[in-house]
Amino acid sequence: MNPEMFIARSSDSDILEKADSGGAVTSILKCALETGEINGVVTVKSNSGDRFSGVSVLITNPEDLTDTAGSLHCSLPNIPRFVKEYLEGAANMKLAIVGKPCDIRAIIELQKRKQIDIDNVILIGLNCTGTITPATARKMYIEEFKVDPSAVIKEDIDDGMLTITLEDGNVKSMDLAKLEKKGLGRRENCRRCEFNIPTFADLAFGKWGTEELEEAGTFVEVSSNKGQSLFRKAIDNGYIKIDTPNKTSIELRARKDKTELERARMWREHDFKPLLELSFPNRFKYWTSEFKKCIKCFGCRDACPICYCETCLLEANREFLVGGEIPPNGIFPLTRLAHVADSCIGCGQCQDACPMELPLSKLFTLLNSKLSEIFDYVPGIDVEQGPPTTIARDEELMIDDTFLKISSIMKTSRVEKKEELMTSGR
Ligand SMILES: Cc1cc2nc3c(=O)[nH]c(=O)nc-3n(C[C@H](O)[C@H](O)[C@H](O)COP(=O)(O)OP(=O)(O)OC[C@H]3O[C@@H](n4cnc5c(N)ncnc54)[C@H](O)[C@@H]3O)c2cc1C
Ligand code: SF4
Ligand code: SF4
Ligand code: SF4
Repeated sequence: MNPEMFIARSSDSDILEKADSGGAVTSILKCALETGEINGVVTVKSNSGDRFSGVSVLITNPEDLTDTAGSLHCSLPNIPRFVKEYLEGAANMKLAIVGKPCDIRAIIELQKRKQIDIDNVILIGLNCTGTITPATARKMYIEEFKVDPSAVIKEDIDDGMLTITLEDGNVKSMDLAKLEKKGLGRRENCRRCEFNIPTFADLAFGKWGTEELEEAGTFVEVSSNKGQSLFRKAIDNGYIKIDTPNKTSIELRARKDKTELERARMWREHDFKPLLELSFPNRFKYWTSEFKKCIKCFGCRDACPICYCETCLLEANREFLVGGEIPPNGIFPLTRLAHVADSCIGCGQCQDACPMELPLSKLFTLLNSKLSEIFDYVPGIDVEQGPPTTIARDEELMIDDTFLKISSIMKTSRVEKKEELMTSGR
């Protein structure tokens, strides 16, 4: 369907007060639960009120939703993994899943691998230009903002500025670029992230485009029939009110998206260029010296939302490539690289988990950007587009001197064509 755009606002004053912009997300989720459209909501909630430790939660009681309203910029819950590991990939219940673009893209990749049931989920995407690790946020608030981290009740990242609101009502802003030069600010992978508006979700929500409105509002983009039906239900049942965004709103949103995309490309150039300029053998030496630091804690594998093999090749008892030796040889990180680089969605969970601070997400994103160019494949956008390492295209099947063991994924007609060409001697 052609995407539709709206400004939406919650009809519930409690939700509006707690929400980040217009409370449309929380109200639509409440409508979905109360009308029986879904059995549960997967979203994020601060752990005992600590906004630096937001965790993934499953909510089945609509009354509990108001507590989840608002945005946590300094919490890094692994939403796709939560759905896959703890909710059996939505096999047994209908879920609305809230997530940032990287969360939604990981869920789409897991859907392709039959780890999450596409028919049972509705994807509620949030615009995003970055998250901050809890440790960095605390350090930055103390050293740069000169405030007590526990006094911060809200963060906002907009127009290159990080703004915090304190419980006494005071607001403080600092230039993100200056903070990031000092190694503070957003996570490294977020600076490089090129997906700000999750138009690949069923519904995409954000505050861009609502800045000049008199009342708070949520900018909504409806991208699928599933999203449209849920959105209409929330309007018809009085959970939200809507307006049509004017030209200024739409242009403002598009301009902010473009500016952030340019910023991300600048960071990609900054991070990748020195690595790409390393010539052989220096490039090899650099990466092997990094791989040697690995202590084989499995943190990166366990955190990666795309790693899903039940019988992982890296386990000691498999003894296939890396066996049980500690420290492992360089094959350990390389095996994971070979397995997921084509589908890496740049979420940075692996790098955050690594106690030895290997530049994992930098390596995976760098390789993924090259593979994306070669295979014309952008992971996590379209559930119908299979990962390139499991699919062979027509032109690949026609390559001479290549014997391909045809998998069940490939269509018989293509196989017959290849056989026909081989027998005819061409
Ligand atoms: C980290 C982050 C960065 C964002 N950056 C931008 C931006 O640059 N531009 C923009 O237009 N919009 C951004 N947003 C979206 C915006 O903050 C609002 O979430 C959106 O406008 C919806 O507002 P609402 O009032 O309808 O949401 P609410 O009704 O307040 O509901 C928000 C929902 O988001 C969930 N949530 C909170 N924190 C997280 C998290 N860390 N991960 C996943 N889900 C979470 C809550 O649990 C709740 O379900 C960002 C959101 C987040 C979480
Ligand atoms: S990688 Fe970072 S900036 Fe990109 S969507 Fe995820 S949290 Fe947001
Ligand atoms: S390899 Fe790292 S950055 Fe890529 S999807 Fe896995 S955890 Fe995320
Ligand atoms: S998280 Fe780091 S140290 Fe642990 S296995 Fe992965 S690369 Fe090695």
